[in-house]
Amino acid sequence: MAEAERKGKKPHKNKPTSKKYEKYTNGKKTAKCCPRCGPAIFLAVHKDRLHCGKCNYTEFLKK
Ligand SMILES: [Zn+2]
Repeated sequence: MAEAERKGKKPHKNKPTSKKYEKYTNGKKTAKCCPRCGPAIFLAVHKDRLHCGKCNYTEFLKK
């Protein structure tokens, strides 16, 4: 019996890569970044606004 098969220990699964990388296409950024937090922090896209969960920056989309 291997160590990982003991009760309470789940075998390691290959997780999909972070959703952060879905925002890149061929090394090009597709999502908007937070002007306050810098290029590493993406803004969450909502119906009528963009929001930064880190600093609460909100950018409203004009119609
Ligand atoms: Zn921010």
